[in-house]
Amino acid sequence: MTDNSQHGLGTKAVHAGWEPEELTGAVMPPIYMTSTYVQDGPGKPRRGFEYSRTQNITRYALQDALAELEGGACGFTFTSGMAAIHTLMLMMKPGDHIVAANDLYGGTHRLFRKIEERFGLRFTFIDARKPDLLDDLPSDTRLLYLETPSNPLLNITPLERAVAGARKVGAEIAVDNTFATPILQNPISFGVDYVIHSTTKYVAGHSDVVGGALIARSESKKEDIWFHQNSAGTVNSPFDAFLTLRGLRTLHLRMQRHCENARLLASFLEEHPKVARVIYPGLVSHPGHAIARDQMRDFGGMLGFEVVGGAELADQVVRNTKLFALAESLGGVESLIELPAPMTHASVPPKERAKIGISDGLVRLSVGIEDSEDLRADLETALG
Ligand SMILES: *Cc1c(COP(=O)(O)O)cnc(C)c1O
Repeated sequence: MTDNSQHGLGTKAVHAGWEPEELTGAVMPPIYMTSTYVQDGPGKPRRGFEYSRTQNITRYALQDALAELEGGACGFTFTSGMAAIHTLMLMMKPGDHIVAANDLYGGTHRLFRKIEERFGLRFTFIDARKPDLLDDLPSDTRLLYLETPSNPLLNITPLERAVAGARKVGAEIAVDNTFATPILQNPISFGVDYVIHSTTKYVAGHSDVVGGALIARSESKKEDIWFHQNSAGTVNSPFDAFLTLRGLRTLHLRMQRHCENARLLASFLEEHPKVARVIYPGLVSHPGHAIARDQMRDFGGMLGFEVVGGAELADQVVRNTKLFALAESLGGVESLIELPAPMTHASVPPKERAKIGISDGLVRLSVGIEDSEDLRADLETALG
């Protein structure tokens, strides 16, 4: 393999994980749609490959590319972001105490409370807006689990402080890096142990495939993650791995445009008389702005806003945009609009939503890579 370690992130995005292959010189990995591999004798697989849940070259290419981009020692990919998170939970033991931020993606919250708790894991949810809490984690914390920027409130957690807090009590730390992508933020460079992605979002980037990833800082985790991925069968298909890798090849370019468009729309909305509040880490008004500037290379393509007139007007706005499609998910080339309370975060109980600040009128945008002027005009009309 070519050594990409000194290259920039754009070069890595284009080249990581694969070299033109020996047989034909193919510059992209073939989609190895095979469930099994021939053996020369019982227990003597011809090339070390036995079964596709365990070994698949197309998946390897994606896994290695993501590990390289995140600066991890090893990477693994899954059927979905949830499958990646569940596989990390499978590595825990009953009784283990996991301290998590209280504003996680709704599906992660549901997985922890409705499934993992049944298997004896214990969860404590802390206020993500109070970084002081990171300095005094419970002494029995096994894992600290965070999202930064978080979904949908775009709270920013100081990674250096979180890592120090986890180390102090001998805990590991996992960060869901879906919103930032490896192009804008590399948690492992701050000492984070595990990075999670819903590759469904920016990494694949074209709203055509569901997938997830788990990347570890240390080589010592490789066997353990592989064992659980293989035993639980949470692997993604070769075709999905191919699509995701194809998307990854342009991630750096897409992120540039997502960030630029989101920045322009954030300024536009901040000035708009019908907008009460804009949540975007790139705005000086955002409480996490200074930390985001320190630990991210840019501020991302997600933004939230509340309209004057609350839930009722918000409901109209999301129905009235033409370019922004009313849909869940995020991170694709096309712009999306949604209301987290009745949509992506409906699985978070209303009382908890209110506590963490997800109001019924909060609008979330996934700003795509269209021409910013068209996006601005679309919002202007919908707000008018
Ligand atoms: C979408 C999402 C997930 C879940 O990923 P799936 O691919 O939908 O299973 C996890 N974390 C975050 C931050 C997400 O946005």
